[in-house]
Amino acid sequence: MTTPAFAPITPEILRQLQEILGSARVSVARADLDLHARDQSHHHAALAEVVVWPTEAEQVAAVLKLANAQHIAVTPWGVGTGLEGNAIPLHGGILMSFEQMDKILKVHADDFQVTVQPGIGHKDLNAQVARYGLFFPPDPGANASIGGMLANNAAGIRTVKYGATKDNVLRMQVALANGTLIQVGSRSIKQSSGYDLLHLFVGSEGTLGVITEATLKLTPIAAYMSAVVVAFESVAAAIETVVAVRGSGLDPAALEFVDAAHCKMLSTAENVDLDEKPTLFMEFHAASQPALEYGLEMVREICVEMGALSVKATSDPTERKQLWYARHASYEILTRNSPGIEYFINDVAVPLSAYPAMVGFIEDVKAEYKLTAYMIGHAGDGNIHVDIPFTDQASYDQALHINGLIVRKALSLEGTSTGEHGVGIGKTQFMVEEHGAALDTMRLLKHSLDPNGILNPGKVFPD
Ligand SMILES: Cc1cc2nc3c(=O)[nH]c(=O)nc-3n(C[C@H](O)[C@H](O)[C@H](O)COP(=O)(O)OP(=O)(O)OC[C@H]3O[C@@H](n4cnc5c(N)ncnc54)[C@H](O)[C@@H]3O)c2cc1C
Repeated sequence: MTTPAFAPITPEILRQLQEILGSARVSVARADLDLHARDQSHHHAALAEVVVWPTEAEQVAAVLKLANAQHIAVTPWGVGTGLEGNAIPLHGGILMSFEQMDKILKVHADDFQVTVQPGIGHKDLNAQVARYGLFFPPDPGANASIGGMLANNAAGIRTVKYGATKDNVLRMQVALANGTLIQVGSRSIKQSSGYDLLHLFVGSEGTLGVITEATLKLTPIAAYMSAVVVAFESVAAAIETVVAVRGSGLDPAALEFVDAAHCKMLSTAENVDLDEKPTLFMEFHAASQPALEYGLEMVREICVEMGALSVKATSDPTERKQLWYARHASYEILTRNSPGIEYFINDVAVPLSAYPAMVGFIEDVKAEYKLTAYMIGHAGDGNIHVDIPFTDQASYDQALHINGLIVRKALSLEGTSTGEHGVGIGKTQFMVEEHGAALDTMRLLKHSLDPNGILNPGKVFPD
């Protein structure tokens, strides 16, 4: 898809934006442009020409109508925690930040639902709905916005039990490129009416429409939770245990894999004491203490049978948090321990049965390139991340090459180039390989919804 040429932001466009939003919500200050030039990924920064902060859907629609008529690029921005450059304004134009559209519009407690504006952080949302004994389960670690999570179909640690963001949304209001506001989906749990436009927009990374409101499913907070951390002699034993635990019907709420190199690095943090071995972190939720204890006993038995070297398990809330601290803070500990080093974060997913082959392949690549890269993954979903360090152009080029090897292996195992971070900038090069003729259907959809190509240009499709 050839990226169209875009019109620049002129003083007259600025005047019209100020008329729509008020002058306090339109900025061309260099500090604001810099703050919205790069997400948390390794991709290069790019400056928008103007940042706008709408507060209501009608303003979003009016800005889009103007941008569409004038052929100006518009890139939506949640809070910039994306890991694939998804929100980087590659073609300048308008950066539309949702930081000020962060309200809870209605809690439908009896329906286990909440309607929100897209800019609210999922952690902030959960702090508010906890008083109803409810929570929104998808958890990408960072305090990502709901709009950014919907747009990327973010997943994270609890997906193995509660699903990804796409599984936890019922209805959205979306502003189309031409400024029309539409509602997709409904508040009914069962929906069978017409095309599933809701899930067309979820995961579209702001390239098909802009989410202005969402009704999300909430889940009762589990009364009893346990944590289990298990070390194994080999990657193969750890990964086979993933399959065994999932196959046992135990229904873990989290099932994470961390490789030996990463455990060693994490153990440099205060109060973290992990064996330098391939390790699984698990969490289980239950409605009663006996049910929890029974499950824990079963997990212990499975792990011992699979050759575990050590099994640390607890249902005590303080000890549970302590056991999980290393996994939850892994990115923070990694970056703190790596002055002067950047990380190229790879994100592939494969069917569960292919997970051992995927991880084994990455081990071989690490050995071949004598690479100290860290593997960490949502093993219960067949999703693995490889954090590949780089310090200069040569090591960046090598990281890029290794990323390609890993993605192609995942595709050959009937997996995907991205389990949860989205296509953004970095995965566009694999879209033809992954989707073949289906990519043409995606292009048709893009063209019919955004004929001028103004929405988040440069993402999803290879140029
Ligand atoms: C430490 C760390 C850990 C992470 N762990 C995980 C993880 O475990 N699982 C996971 O899935 N992700 C993870 N992420 C990645 C990131 O948190 C997710 O991709 C998240 O969805 C990004 O949300 P955001 O609000 O920061 O969106 P941004 O990065 O600001 O934007 C992401 C995309 O959403 C679009 N967008 C934003 N708002 C809207 C809107 N209202 N309408 C339409 N499009 C919009 C943007 O244009 C962009 O394409 C992690 C990130 C960090 C920094």
